Amino acid sequence: MTQETTLAGRVALLSGGTSGIGLGIAHELGRQGARVAVFGRDGEKAETAAADLLRQGIDAIGLAADVRDYAGVARVIQAATARYSAPDIIVAAAAGNFVVPAANLSAGGFKAVVDIDLIGTFNLFRAAYDVTTGASTMIAITAPQGQMTMPGQAHVSAAKAGINALVQALAREWGIKGIRVNAISPGPIAGTEGVERMAVNPATAEAWRGEIPLQRFGDLDDIAKLTAFLAGAQAKYITGTIIDCDGGWHLGNVGRGWLDQAAS
Ligand code: NAP
Repeated sequence: MTQETTLAGRVALLSGGTSGIGLGIAHELGRQGARVAVFGRDGEKAETAAADLLRQGIDAIGLAADVRDYAGVARVIQAATARYSAPDIIVAAAAGNFVVPAANLSAGGFKAVVDIDLIGTFNLFRAAYDVTTGASTMIAITAPQGQMTMPGQAHVSAAKAGINALVQALAREWGIKGIRVNAISPGPIAGTEGVERMAVNPATAEAWRGEIPLQRFGDLDDIAKLTAFLAGAQAKYITGTIIDCDGGWHLGNVGRGWLDQAAS
């Protein structure tokens, strides 16, 4: 494998880096020279992910913590710091999701998603803040639901909108320390757990693709390459932004029927 060295000397820490989009990002950051610590709740899954990264020639460790547990997150940061040095690329990708009409959503279900997504992102960034020594970057993986509500996703919309606001608030306060804080909002990414859960059959998937201006789902590389760009020197003046990487899905589908009628 050809290694790029754009991120050489950097240490990346990723919550939710043990599968899906987070693991895809871990691979790209590592391919560009960063040393990588990934964590999720399941320690074995984290070790398998790290072994996968090591096989690709990436220096990596897998750790276990629940992002809802601040002390656990702080321990993971300590472990990554002891192994490498203080993380200076921090990615919050851990999340939970399920589709349920708001009328059937329990208080516990709503809280669980807000706790993992929003509180978990705060816990990671806040604990990382205490160890950052110089210029560093924090990147939250948010979602279009944060700016565009959709049925069955009230809990996710609330949590992701909170993340978007948090990212901007932290960017405002921590810029003075050289910390850049941004978010990436992926559209549906093919082959991930998130898409499998929502595109329950081929007809649903096809209809969904039709709502996206670029008429396709994204791939892991779309998000991984953007994250590496945001983490790198080329993005050194970018902070407090929510970057849509969703084929234009966030524009919504309003008025599509008018165009189809005009064309027929
Ligand atoms: P995924 O494959 O289900 O991965 C979720 C990751 O988060 C796993 O590593 C999981 O590991 C970890 N995790 C879950 N709960 C956790 C907790 N309480 N504490 C620590 N780690 C936890 O997810 P994905 O579909 O790739 O999504 C990744 C991110 O992208 C999420 O923020 C999601 O909202 C966002 N997103 C995804 C899509 C998509 O198309 N998939 C679109 C837009 C946005 P454990 O199970 O071991 O904890």
